[in-house]
Amino acid sequence: MGRSFRFVILGGGVSAGYAALEFVRLGIPAGDLCIITDEAVAPYERPALSKGFLLPEGAVRLPAFHTCVGVGAERLTARWYKEHGIELLLNTQVVSVDLKRQTLLTSAKETIAYLTLIVATGARVLRLEEFGVTGADARNIFYLRNLHDATKLVEAMQSCSGGKAVVIGGGYIGMECAAALVSNGVHVTMVFPESHCIARLFTPQIATFYEDYYTRRGVVFVKGTVMSTFESDIDGKVAAVVLKDGTRLPADLVVVGVGIRPNTTLLEGQLTMEKGGIKVNGKMRTSNSTVYAVGDVAAFPLKMYGDVRRLEHVDHARKSAAHAVESIMHPERAKDYDYLPYFYSRVFSLSWQFFGDNSGECLLFGDLKSEKFGAYWVDRGRLVGAFLEGGSKSEYAALAVVARKRPMVEDVQLLAGQGIKFALAL
Ligand code: FAD
Repeated sequence: MGRSFRFVILGGGVSAGYAALEFVRLGIPAGDLCIITDEAVAPYERPALSKGFLLPEGAVRLPAFHTCVGVGAERLTARWYKEHGIELLLNTQVVSVDLKRQTLLTSAKETIAYLTLIVATGARVLRLEEFGVTGADARNIFYLRNLHDATKLVEAMQSCSGGKAVVIGGGYIGMECAAALVSNGVHVTMVFPESHCIARLFTPQIATFYEDYYTRRGVVFVKGTVMSTFESDIDGKVAAVVLKDGTRLPADLVVVGVGIRPNTTLLEGQLTMEKGGIKVNGKMRTSNSTVYAVGDVAAFPLKMYGDVRRLEHVDHARKSAAHAVESIMHPERAKDYDYLPYFYSRVFSLSWQFFGDNSGECLLFGDLKSEKFGAYWVDRGRLVGAFLEGGSKSEYAALAVVARKRPMVEDVQLLAGQGIKFALAL
């Protein structure tokens, strides 16, 4: 039998870092907490990987973006964990979990016992092989989930300046990577099956603004289609992306961002699952009373909307982690998780934030030409979601309030006319 801990966090990403901070804030004795991660470094702010990390100049590097700098809190380096008596097991994969015995087995063949387990395994990228794309094992095809991926991408971008890249996928990862590639002097073509970018959130009008902006920076969009094969050169390096209609796009490198799958495999058959993730209650507790799940992997009751969701956003990772720890440490005072969905992205000199739900009718406001505009979503007479490009801190704060309050809207045209003033006046 190996070591035993009061608390074990399985996974060492964003939520693990924020959970550790909360444990320390609430006061735990040295030796009580162990974090096990297959990554080589202490938890860090993952969003930096597709933003500051990819910049051609002044790029951020660790230790600058360890958690929890994302909310302006202390930066938790490996030394911080040591100083607080937290066992941080790096480069260690958990290969199985036995919930009956309350033990984990690591790739180093160590059995680690816990009293309370927090599952914070996040998600893995979907790979093109899973869609039956041939040639996807060629060199210079990149995905982006962790520091290792980002480091390889930076090396390739730097050796490819003036060359051509194809970005597969029009979500925020694809858009952020495309912007980074352009900034690094690489010519970019984006390919995705939807009719416009960031289709899960943007309306066609909002998307047109961003696509036009990218087009002015030389990005070519190939929309409404998918790729079928990769061609490689004699060295096994990708040479071209071939689309379903036979179009051949020459490529020195390819970046793929086609979605993620929560890392649930170790718990399947042992915990109740929902929405592709681990089902939790308002305390982030799973169907096993000694196990909690947080971040991308958790399907939780979204109190505001009365449904169950799984969100792949950093703000939720941070808050759900802190909430789980609060529930564990102080069950008597812990309330149900009451989350307001929040998501953001930054590309080139643009930056937007979104709060709430994008259901119902979308009303655009502001001036797209001046790069300062927004949108409200109104569903069954209520304002449910708010989006703003180029806002100030106080304007974004006002959007959060309005999305949380969900006021009734009597006149949608009046609301559109008032724009950001409506939120600021609330
Ligand atoms: P993760 O941060 O992914 O951490 C999971 C950890 O568990 C990883 O360290 C993983 O290696 C480890 N792990 C998994 N299985 C095992 C195992 N069996 N054994 C040991 N370790 C294991 N969200 C936003 O809201 N805005 C953004 O701008 C934004 N940008 C992003 C940019 C990129 C490039 C990426 C990849 C994500 C971005 N996100 C963004 C999403 C955000 O980063 C995630 O929602 C967040 O990281 C989820 O935190 P998590 O702790 O659940 O998972």
